[in-house]
Amino acid sequence: MKIGIDIDNVIFNTAETVLDVHYEDTGERLHLSDITDYNMTQFVGKKYRYHFPELFSDKRVIERLKPLDACVETINNMFGKQGHDILFVTASPRYILPDGKKKLQELFDFDVSKKIVVAKRKSVVDIDILIDDCLDQVSRQIFYRNDPAILLNYPWNQQPIVGGSRGLLYRADNWKDIDRLMFLMTAVLKIDSQGE
Ligand SMILES: [Mg+2]
Repeated sequence: MKIGIDIDNVIFNTAETVLDVHYEDTGERLHLSDITDYNMTQFVGKKYRYHFPELFSDKRVIERLKPLDACVETINNMFGKQGHDILFVTASPRYILPDGKKKLQELFDFDVSKKIVVAKRKSVVDIDILIDDCLDQVSRQIFYRNDPAILLNYPWNQQPIVGGSRGLLYRADNWKDIDRLMFLMTAVLKIDSQGE
């Protein structure tokens, strides 16, 4: 099975790190719970909005990014023991640049360099399951590909999917949940493919 895994806010704690650096630079303290829409910039004070998006590629942010709990073990296990194909599917080109790629490589014992795909619309990438925190990407996976997706819960993705989720949307609170869901989903997909 080909598993597509988003990087920002799924592997790394990107939003949290960006908000920390924003606080250091400006004194404006925002919390994850304030960010109730995918476009973070609108929650920042007006005078900071122009420069805020630059923080996502700021050296300090990249340096401080930390993997979410249980993420590395779960992915190593998917790739190793469970034998899945892993693709890191990101809309952000910074993970194919040296600093970003190095940061990602530090987490895993397999070579990540041929597994990073940059795509604004992830539904064009050939994957069976998408794991993401962006409701739009997950919706496209479901509607254009008719394939399942796991949405990692955050305050910015609590809205329902427009048009319904066709039973293909799974929500997870953390990587322990993702691990359990993957186990169930791959079992169901295997049975489906045997029945065809
Ligand atoms: Mg993301």
